[in-house]
Amino acid sequence: MSEKEPVICIIDDSREDREICRRYLQQDSDYRYRFFEAETGEQGLELCRSVRPDCILLDYDLPDITGLELLEALAGSSPTRLVSLPVVMLTGLGDESIALQAMKSGAQDYLVKGEMTAGNLYRAIHNAIERASMRRIVEEQRHNLEMKNQELQAFAYALAHDLKSPLRAIRGFAEIMGEDYNTLLDETGQHYLHVIIKSAVQMNELIDDLLSYTQIEHGPVRFQAVKLSELAQQTLASLAGQIEREQGHVIIQDQLPVIYGDPTLVGQALVNLLDNALKYHSPEQPPVVSLTCQIEGHEAVLCVADKGIGIAPCHHAKIFQIFQRLHGEEEYPGTGIGLAIVKKSVELMRGQLWLESDQGLGTKFYIRLPLYSGGG
Ligand code: ADP
Repeated sequence: MSEKEPVICIIDDSREDREICRRYLQQDSDYRYRFFEAETGEQGLELCRSVRPDCILLDYDLPDITGLELLEALAGSSPTRLVSLPVVMLTGLGDESIALQAMKSGAQDYLVKGEMTAGNLYRAIHNAIERASMRRIVEEQRHNLEMKNQELQAFAYALAHDLKSPLRAIRGFAEIMGEDYNTLLDETGQHYLHVIIKSAVQMNELIDDLLSYTQIEHGPVRFQAVKLSELAQQTLASLAGQIEREQGHVIIQDQLPVIYGDPTLVGQALVNLLDNALKYHSPEQPPVVSLTCQIEGHEAVLCVADKGIGIAPCHHAKIFQIFQRLHGEEEYPGTGIGLAIVKKSVELMRGQLWLESDQGLGTKFYIRLPLYSGGG
């Protein structure tokens, strides 16, 4: 016999039926149970809140409330929600549809009163206790993981904030020095100052990109309908400065579809791909970039294409790794985090990402994600 003494709440307005359940369970050689009883739904709810039962035997037909309503009330008061509620619903003969509904609403099992035997009652109770305890463990682990992720995000955010503040001072004072003491510095001194400012700007970008990467990796994924046309226009607006600087031309396909994904993640993927497409061109040729989409069955295949410097096939796998860059900071500035963000975003949405490119032949990055079907 198990050391554990499971707490059973029997909620049933019939004294005889409660008695039968108790008697049957007292014959169970696996457990010695502790019983608590209630005659009405209201009493039952009160009881379950105070004794934290391991299993609830719940009569569907109560005088004040139906079993289903009570199930919902119990779920609402459960700290771990309905998933871990160990309820076995007791129904009358021919009440199969009610039983089914009870299971859908979170009951672990049901028994038809007229067909109840000691054997099938033990089995239902053992299963309910075991399943509920397993679900509780999974739920607790999920909760702990979520808490850890939140802590990590808060830590990363605080770290980024604390690192950026002295950096602002370095940059700010270096700029003031450049303005106010310019005549006192010779050419070498001015060059050093220029390097200090540039390095501070670069480090600021690195911190921002690392923060975005951490937020994506540890943040929640919220699947919903994503209107690509709207998102593409927003992304384009956020890149307006860069487009102007590079004298670039960006063509966005008319009427992009609505896809099913996380808008923040899709946005991050697009902004990083378009940013790269605008950046990696030869100095003589301003960038020409396009964003198009093809429908393949129930999926959308997005393509960000440029006519820039291209990437040799031997580097295709490497560029998605964090901090992997193929160019020096002087040639093309960057942090080496952009494509790692794209990869992580697409992975989190369970999509696919690949590229077609060769040196000097431009680059096409593809993302495959499901189309929004209306029902989610
Ligand atoms: P970053 O652009 O900050 O260096 P990314 O992770 O976005 O970092 O890209 C990694 C590397 O992949 C880049 O350094 C660059 O060499 C190469 N790359 C990415 N996109 C393109 C592109 N559209 N054309 C050519 N090279 C690219």
